[in-house]
Amino acid sequence: MTKDWVIEYFESEGTCFGLKGSERVESVQSPYQKIDIYNTETFGYLMLIDGCTMVSSRENFLYHEMMSHPALFSHNDPKRVAIIGGGDCGTLREVLAHECVEQVTQIDIDEQVTRLSEKYFPELCERNDDPRAQLLFIDGLKWIDDQPGESLEVLIVDSTDPVGFAEGLFTVDFFKQCFAKLAPGGIIVQQSESPLLHGQSIIAPLHKNFRAAGFSDTQTLHFPQIIYPSGWWSCTMAKKGGALDQFRQEDAQAKSFATRYYSAQMHQAAKVLPPFLSQAIDGLS
Ligand code: SAM
Repeated sequence: MTKDWVIEYFESEGTCFGLKGSERVESVQSPYQKIDIYNTETFGYLMLIDGCTMVSSRENFLYHEMMSHPALFSHNDPKRVAIIGGGDCGTLREVLAHECVEQVTQIDIDEQVTRLSEKYFPELCERNDDPRAQLLFIDGLKWIDDQPGESLEVLIVDSTDPVGFAEGLFTVDFFKQCFAKLAPGGIIVQQSESPLLHGQSIIAPLHKNFRAAGFSDTQTLHFPQIIYPSGWWSCTMAKKGGALDQFRQEDAQAKSFATRYYSAQMHQAAKVLPPFLSQAIDGLS
């Protein structure tokens, strides 16, 4: 790392992403991971976990809006929602914008992520006191095990990359648990990395694993994400019974809250996949 830049190197791809004028303002080694906060010249605050970029003040809306609104508008009546991971609370904030949601449980293994987010990204935590929200700090794999069957409408997996204790969140065994805990018509959405870098290695296997767990339909949506490897990211949804081709388009158009990236039109556009990605997914499904 050079003096004025914070740089994440992606050794395997031979690329890096950097932000100029960056000063480290806090560094915490939690029992689970190392969390660093930088103050940058052009992107506001930046959080890194174990050296990987997670969230910045300037662009996080892209990721948080796309991890929440497509899944919620793809369900007919999302009342009970859970977020596994997501400790920065940005996805939680977006979910709570939906008036139809009656309860949201966020389960992040690491309380320090939330405490640092409250300090440096207060805008992401502004709805944490909503009486519908419950914040838990335990392993999502353990939590899902303990839930009653058919007790959720939407489950959002907003995790770190599939390594270490997040690895289990990408497996068929975990998806089978999620399937059992979702009510009929329920939807799971998982952050699914870069279409360019991980189309074959993560996105296509995710579709296969969702189907192996019993889900009837799957769908990947893609969106820009400048601070993550390749600058292009995705989330992948799966539905318990029925198809995912339609969403509540009129409700999305008439939504009562503001968004900066998500709209009914962007939702529609994000579902259109480039041929190389559809071919990778179809090749494995
Ligand atoms: N936007 C980020 C990305 O795509 O890389 C994800 C951000 S969010 C901060 C990821 C969170 O997942 C972290 O706070 C981490 O503690 C949490 N996490 C990872 N594995 C987990 C697990 N097994 N159970 C609960 N939370 C987990």
